[in-house]
Amino acid sequence: MPEDEIPWGGSRGRFPNPDTRRWMDAMAARGWTAPTWPRMYGGGGLDATRAAILQQELRRRGARPALFSFGLWMLGPVLLEYGSEAQKQRFLPPIVRGEARWCQGYSEPDAGSDLASLRTKAVDAGDHWRVDGRKIWTSYADEADWIFCLVRTDTGRKHGGISFLLIDMKSPGISTRPIRLISGSSPFCETFFDDVAVPKEHLVGPLNGGWEIARKLLQYERQNVAAAGFGGELKRIEARARQLFGIDAQGRIADAALRERIAHADMYEYATRLTMQRAQREVDAGQASSASSVVKYAAAHANQQHYELMIETLGYEGLGWQGAPYETESLEQTRKWLRSKGNSIEGGTSEINLNVIARRVLGLPGGA
Ligand SMILES: Cc1cc2nc3c(=O)[nH]c(=O)nc-3n(C[C@H](O)[C@H](O)[C@H](O)COP(=O)(O)OP(=O)(O)OC[C@H]3O[C@@H](n4cnc5c(N)ncnc54)[C@H](O)[C@@H]3O)c2cc1C
Repeated sequence: MPEDEIPWGGSRGRFPNPDTRRWMDAMAARGWTAPTWPRMYGGGGLDATRAAILQQELRRRGARPALFSFGLWMLGPVLLEYGSEAQKQRFLPPIVRGEARWCQGYSEPDAGSDLASLRTKAVDAGDHWRVDGRKIWTSYADEADWIFCLVRTDTGRKHGGISFLLIDMKSPGISTRPIRLISGSSPFCETFFDDVAVPKEHLVGPLNGGWEIARKLLQYERQNVAAAGFGGELKRIEARARQLFGIDAQGRIADAALRERIAHADMYEYATRLTMQRAQREVDAGQASSASSVVKYAAAHANQQHYELMIETLGYEGLGWQGAPYETESLEQTRKWLRSKGNSIEGGTSEINLNVIARRVLGLPGGA
């Protein structure tokens, strides 16, 4: 879906047309933007099987997703597990209805892969927290209503000194600055906290117990990053390859090496989809899926491989950057290719995911 047609919701939500809005509202009214969440928090109350059937039926009808939301994909599931009753009642229904848009305040200039080095601090000021620090790569911070944030509440302990805090983006002392990207558009921001007052009741889970929640949320993020963005255009790539390189006597793409790479990409994508289904079944069965790193790694690789092939088969058209005469469908593909570079970084880099797979999935000794 093109970026400007994505229904992100939120108080500043823009909809490309009235039908998109109507579709979101209709789905939210049934709780079907969050089909498996309990009805008491606005969700659909469906079990995993019924939720899967709902998704199948929506796909069969070619329905677009009604709502894109970090609240649905990341925050909601951890609030259901770790949030207080008051937090669930307050924060979950506006997520389901697409009224509150959330962003993720994890990364800092010196805390990316080594996230537990984060330094944004929250100090107990009696009836509230005072937050100071700086986050980076905060996607859509300038559009968000709220941010879920990792903050340091104990400087003496690394992982054990981190807490999970919910902060209203309208709070005095918060500012954002966009970061411009190579692909032209910029979803990223730096987010600054300058003596920001946060109510005590916005702490999720125990004080200094944020690391466990942060890791759980990353599992959901990795699965969603994987599911959201990979592949899907191999038929188009194949057609372009036939056009650009011609066909041999048996009607196959004439360039044997390219033909083999397209076949490889096809099989890789298929295997990745099956792995994703397995991971989803583990989640549906209530197990924290050990496959989230595998799926994230594989989907990132699949998507990058996919758009490398796309760019190659676009020929000279794939050189477009921006502006006429390149404002074409090819330019859209070039942007997707550039955007795919971030897939092996966002939600944990591929190297970090390989480390996780080595240690926690394969049980190999050593490693970082
Ligand atoms: C599209 C996109 C969206 C994002 N959205 C958000 C967001 O909304 N909120 C947010 O908080 N962050 C966001 N991020 C930031 C992202 O989480 C970090 O960029 C990522 O965790 C890597 O951190 P870093 O950039 O500091 O790189 P570094 O941690 O500095 O890593 C640099 C390189 O070193 C490698 N490396 C580091 N440590 C190891 C190790 N132990 N073993 C092997 N290799 C290692 C890494 O793999 C990488 O190649 C986003 C990033 C992208 C690309």
